[in-house]
Amino acid sequence: MKILVLNCGSSSLKYQLFEMDTEAVLAKGLVERIGLAGACVKHTKDNKSTVREEEIADHTKAIKIVLELLLDREVGALKSLDELSAVGHRIVHGGENYSKSVKVTDAVIKEIESCVPLAPLHNPANLMGIHAMTNTLPGVTNVAAFDTAFHQTMPPKAYIYGIPYEYYENDKVRRYSFHGMSHAFVSARAAEILGKPASSLKIITCHLGNGSSITAVDGGKSVDSSLGMGTTPGILMGTRCGDIDASVVLHLVTKHGDAAKVSDILHKKSGLIGVSGVSSDLRDVEEAAKKGNERAKLASDMLCTSVKKHIASYAAVMGGADAIVFTAGIGENSDSVRAAVTKGLEFMGVKLDEGKNAGLRGKEAVISADDSKVKVMVVPTNEELMIARDAKRIAEGK
Ligand code: ADP
Repeated sequence: MKILVLNCGSSSLKYQLFEMDTEAVLAKGLVERIGLAGACVKHTKDNKSTVREEEIADHTKAIKIVLELLLDREVGALKSLDELSAVGHRIVHGGENYSKSVKVTDAVIKEIESCVPLAPLHNPANLMGIHAMTNTLPGVTNVAAFDTAFHQTMPPKAYIYGIPYEYYENDKVRRYSFHGMSHAFVSARAAEILGKPASSLKIITCHLGNGSSITAVDGGKSVDSSLGMGTTPGILMGTRCGDIDASVVLHLVTKHGDAAKVSDILHKKSGLIGVSGVSSDLRDVEEAAKKGNERAKLASDMLCTSVKKHIASYAAVMGGADAIVFTAGIGENSDSVRAAVTKGLEFMGVKLDEGKNAGLRGKEAVISADDSKVKVMVVPTNEELMIARDAKRIAEGK
């Protein structure tokens, strides 16, 4: 069974074609600058890449090109489009309507549209992917996989904000949190590695990339998570601020009189880049910190402290933790962040094995000492595979 996974942004489209019997990636690629000058497609099969530069007016044209490449005799991986059993779409916001992936129907499209005010940049782009696919291949099963779905198990005490309840009832103002496919994937995989059922474990998953979130996964279910109604709270991120006081937002808006400008500051000019002034990329910040740049050191300390605080508070929420899992660009690759985050958590039974942690990049491993009460693990995330698995299950009618 072959499944295509699409992740559509407003001017980009990422794709991966899976053979689900082996879960192997047959081909993948990225279309960039859709609707803009200089559009191009980078398609990769067997580690060999092909680049096609041409005008790509919209997502429908982008999908036509992707399907042509997938059917190509040399660089493709399909003989006929009939081989495609389903297409899985990454959808950022499913609001309170979806706690798992679903087959796309007209009603589902309407629900995704109704969540546009909650994710104005992402949901319209995700919908463009669905429309482009249904225009191009009307017969294929489309599956929507939501970033918010995994967190729908959070109890009200985790998702209600301390503001008048009517804003939840009337305006859907609440914590939703994101990166759900990643937290679901790594927590399930961690349970497999530990050889225990997920239902018996308390796991804290740390998805640390350009965007970051931490989730408390109790018995396989998300019970708290650090992103919110939007994508700025929680951990200090590449360009996003992490937890701040509402007064800061009000002060900035009052002083600068412009909510759009303040939104731009909090989403794009804050976090590692805002504090360090060096870069939003942790590697650059760590490099500058090593050379004595105090603000770079401060930014990286703030990132690690915000992760540590969330881990300890989520352990408190769950009444303990069996495992802490690091994933995504920073979590999978930065031994220094993993070391700094876990240092000081010995009081709750965390004991890192520095030898196992040092130099470990992008590989699955348990990096805690054998006698550590809480296992510390690195599990590379694979959101696309998680979407493909859901699409397969739904295509099989399960
Ligand atoms: P996104 O949220 O855009 O998917 P990623 O998960 O790819 O982001 O993570 C990007 C982050 O991972 C960047 O801050 C980058 O510096 C960091 N990163 C990648 N490799 C390393 C490394 N070897 N050491 C430290 N940080 C790394």
